[in-house]
Amino acid sequence: MHYFDHSATTPLHPHVKELMDEVGEHHFGNPSSVHSSGQKARALIEKARGQMAKSIECNSNEIIFTGGGTEANNLILWNLIHEHKKHVVTSAIEHPAILTTLEYLQEFGITYTAVGVDQNGMIDPVDVETSITDNTGLITIMLANNEVGTIQPIKMVSEIARKYNIPFHSDAVQALGKIGVNSKNLGVDMMSFSAHKFYGPKGVGALYFKKAMSLKPLILGGNQEQSLRAGTQNTVGIAGMGLAAELSTESVKNSQPHLKKLKDSFIVQLRSACPDVVFNQHPTDCIPGLVSVTFPGIRNDLLMIHLDKKKVSVSSGSACSSGDIKPSSVLSSMGVSDDLNISTLRISFGTGNTLAEVSILIDAVSSSLKQIRSAA
Ligand code: PLP
Repeated sequence: MHYFDHSATTPLHPHVKELMDEVGEHHFGNPSSVHSSGQKARALIEKARGQMAKSIECNSNEIIFTGGGTEANNLILWNLIHEHKKHVVTSAIEHPAILTTLEYLQEFGITYTAVGVDQNGMIDPVDVETSITDNTGLITIMLANNEVGTIQPIKMVSEIARKYNIPFHSDAVQALGKIGVNSKNLGVDMMSFSAHKFYGPKGVGALYFKKAMSLKPLILGGNQEQSLRAGTQNTVGIAGMGLAAELSTESVKNSQPHLKKLKDSFIVQLRSACPDVVFNQHPTDCIPGLVSVTFPGIRNDLLMIHLDKKKVSVSSGSACSSGDIKPSSVLSSMGVSDDLNISTLRISFGTGNTLAEVSILIDAVSSSLKQIRSAA
């Protein structure tokens, strides 16, 4: 299998797997227990908290672990029901963990404005500022987009948020381990993370929040995670997340040029093999290794099936349900027509991919296109 879908999820780093196996076997005590077995588990969690904190340059007590990126985003958004100011400024290309939640929260009196993006998937900070009302209680703008990889001007937005004294959250799920994420430089108040996007386990995430933020829990019960996320912690997953954060952050300097080389080689070879392809992303401010590419006249679901038969895994930007493909709302927001939208694939390279695999991918795409065209 040749896997080019690392924005969906990544394989476990071998050292992370090793650690998780060891923790699962030997350190199964409940981290809230007072006996030494529990205390060992507790120490592993605190070590992981320190690793997460170091990787985004914050204090350990500014990190709580969650059940993933979706939960971290929900925790922030649901807090608005307790707030006096219930309007949110967000972007039109946020992940469903933000946009679907905001839509749902309208039932609870939350309102929101989603600023648009340009043809490269980039917001304009001026739009954020002009969307602020007297009732705005939160700004949430993702650091990097999951479909097209655009890296947003978060620092500029945080300056706006500070000017109006509005809490600023950023969904950084697609960013950690791919680009440097420095909480202080970015100036954000809160950020969400997910371990399985940086070679850690699934079902574990983290929320960074500045100590000054007063948050209320989404899940109530025991007093774990500073009483902000009740429930016995997933020691194995959290230990894996901590190490994955450390390893992927430390290796960003090496992984970035590698991913760039793979992406550049793919683009050059694809342009020569299929001159009519269109790339949908920002030329520079983009997550390394991610390519959003349109094959005019070719349905992406069909192309993905052909590629899958050739043991090549990629993804489409659009959601498939019961055989119907819906245009991706991210691409639509960027002005991509429905026809081109449903002809778009997302290829996301990972650190384990090689240049030889890029050639395999190009061959698989070229032969699949030939097969689809000759069957038409
Ligand atoms: N936010 C973004 C930008 C994502 O890409 C994802 C996952 O694809 C999530 C949030 C959700 O994270 P999780 O899978 O950990 O719930």
